Amino acid sequence: MNKAVLFICDGLGDLPVRGKTPLEAAKKPNMDRLARGGICGMMSTLGAGVVPGSDTGHLQLLGYPPQEFYPGRGPLEALGAGLPLLHGDIAFRCNFGTVDARGRLIDRRAGRIASGEAAEIGKSLDGMMVEKVLAIFKPTVEHRASLVLRGAGLSSSVTDTDPHGQGELSLCRARDASPEASKTAEIVNRFVKMAHERLSLHPQNQKRARERMMPANYVLLRGAGTYRKIPGLKERFGISGSCIAGGALYKGVCRYVGMDAPNVRGATGTGNTDVMAKADAAIAALRTRDFALLHVKGTDNFGHDGDFAGKKRMIERIDKAVGKLMKWGGAYIVLTADHSTPVSRKAHSADPVPICIWGPDVRTDDVKRFGERACAKGGLGHITGADVMPTIASLLGKAKMLGS
Ligand code: ZN
Ligand code: ZN
Repeated sequence: MNKAVLFICDGLGDLPVRGKTPLEAAKKPNMDRLARGGICGMMSTLGAGVVPGSDTGHLQLLGYPPQEFYPGRGPLEALGAGLPLLHGDIAFRCNFGTVDARGRLIDRRAGRIASGEAAEIGKSLDGMMVEKVLAIFKPTVEHRASLVLRGAGLSSSVTDTDPHGQGELSLCRARDASPEASKTAEIVNRFVKMAHERLSLHPQNQKRARERMMPANYVLLRGAGTYRKIPGLKERFGISGSCIAGGALYKGVCRYVGMDAPNVRGATGTGNTDVMAKADAAIAALRTRDFALLHVKGTDNFGHDGDFAGKKRMIERIDKAVGKLMKWGGAYIVLTADHSTPVSRKAHSADPVPICIWGPDVRTDDVKRFGERACAKGGLGHITGADVMPTIASLLGKAKMLGS
């Protein structure tokens, strides 16, 4: 067999509540069957005691240590939004916000403006030239958007303009003494000012103001990063890959490492996603690719909400998709998470996550259930995220010999 699926249940790992984690409490016959037929273990994605973000966790799982390859959130979101980036582009995450007549920020989400309306308003900012720098602007979901600055002599070493709450608007400032950083801060501040003027005059915003809705008349920037072209999965591991995910960030991470990321009908990046449609999409992608990353976000969302029952139910829904992939049987399955999001903490934690590798010729161990406690006794022992892609490459017969 020369195909593999890396099935990532975001934030799956947890801590016991009255003796059991959501994974241990869930009815998940297929995951347990996977554990019985495969080899299990525990994984600290970024090493012991490091709390992974979803972006850095996924980069590491794909074989790209974030210490070396993390470009910042801005470029990953921009790639996720489908913006084709060029080496040296500076990208930001943005929010449409609302500023009153006295220049005070009164809503950092422009009344959670609808996606369609934001797309219409955002068009007026796309393609603006600020001195000799091109601004590429693309609204994504509701008040969110991506901004790319393209031009010579720029740097991502600049501060956010987003105050991350209500109140004082901040100017963008250089974070180091380089001429590139001060030039970029200046370009950003000019862009923000020009954008405010254009947006204030936009007919859609004037209509919103008449209807007593928050006009999307200001752009807040954060998460600056520089896009660099890096060697893709094919060059690094000899593997072609496809990403099956609803959330833009995950598509962005995968595109960054040279994978394709098709839009999957029913994949929402939330708790109501169509997990069976995702399993079908992974199977379809593997007709032409060696590897598919199948990402399900819902488990993490329920973890952040502190919703034990919701997380348990999500795991039970995911279990059916695992069953579908096992029944198809055309690929190795690596089932794991990017990090733990314990419901008792409502946040990511450094607690290791269970991992299982299943396929026709993998070694097995005595683990009978897929869970935090059971997998700790597994034959894989305790690994890190850096071990995952080399292991998959080895399963697919792509591992390189050291020496002769
Ligand atoms: Zn995550
Ligand atoms: Zn999370």
